[in-house]
Amino acid sequence: MRIAKDNRNLPKQYYRSELKRCPHCHWKLKRWATLWRKYLSTLAGRFHVFSQGYRCANSDCPEPEAIYRSTEAETLSVPGCSYGIEVIVEVGYQRFWLQRTIQEIHGLLKERVLISERQILNLLAHFLALVRAGQPAKVAQLRAHWQKLGGLVLSIDGMQPEKGTPALYVVREVQVDVTLMAEILETADHQTLATHLLEPIKAWGLPVKGIISDAQESIRLAVAQVWPDQPHQNCQFHCLKEAGRPAFEADRALKTRLKKKLRGGLNRARQAIQALSETDPYRPVLLKYVRYLRFTLLVRSLPPFELGGLRMVQQLTLLEASLGRAQEKGGIDCCAA
Ligand SMILES: [Zn+2]
Repeated sequence: MRIAKDNRNLPKQYYRSELKRCPHCHWKLKRWATLWRKYLSTLAGRFHVFSQGYRCANSDCPEPEAIYRSTEAETLSVPGCSYGIEVIVEVGYQRFWLQRTIQEIHGLLKERVLISERQILNLLAHFLALVRAGQPAKVAQLRAHWQKLGGLVLSIDGMQPEKGTPALYVVREVQVDVTLMAEILETADHQTLATHLLEPIKAWGLPVKGIISDAQESIRLAVAQVWPDQPHQNCQFHCLKEAGRPAFEADRALKTRLKKKLRGGLNRARQAIQALSETDPYRPVLLKYVRYLRFTLLVRSLPPFELGGLRMVQQLTLLEASLGRAQEKGGIDCCAA
């Protein structure tokens, strides 16, 4: 799904050539034309970015046609992408270092950047293209090392934000942790996976010791076709996540119930406390409790181990104990929640 963006009144950013004088004749450079402009979404906000081209003003210059541009502007993003490079890196980091799913990354990122799950997938493809740019040299370098290790251990992962949309497939070598292949595929039948992802790796002529995946049917068949005799194991992280799902769902339900219960009472309590006299010594203390309660409502969950509902219960228990102590000490006779 594309997200409609309002591009009116975006702050404009102009990038100019870092060179101020012609390197051939030392005349001052003059602005010539806008080389490109685009709407760029960054973690710091959205901007309308202009890259200004410059030329030498000297009609006798030996290189009068040379165009000088801002190198900084060229590093803001990658061609054909309307997100800043730091958004691309953030998405890649969340996915491949923190093992978050596209839905989870979307949940974390959507408050900072206007983005859809489909666009996150595109950014992952850009990220992997950047990573892969240095890959052929790396593979050549690592060849001897892999031979010493007895061959490759591959992990294969398919990411699809919604059913019926293209999926991003990534093959990594897990002993040295490098991405070998990354392709967005329109169809994900086993023959396509074998042809686009696995056969090119097989063609390197290195032995393959084993394969790890989430055991998706088409991956299983593709591996059986290309490396029929190699062990193919279920990914433990995927298994753990699946095994933890019932607990996670129960925790989510608990969190929803707690939030619902707290919200109404919290608003009423805040209004009552704000109505207290400014000079009331209990007022700032009680407002602090209200802030803490509001903070408790924002607790996040991340499967399989970060259970927001349980954390809310822990924080509420601490809060209750603290309120109890405050009542004994200071004689507070009303309770914020
Ligand atoms: Zn010149």
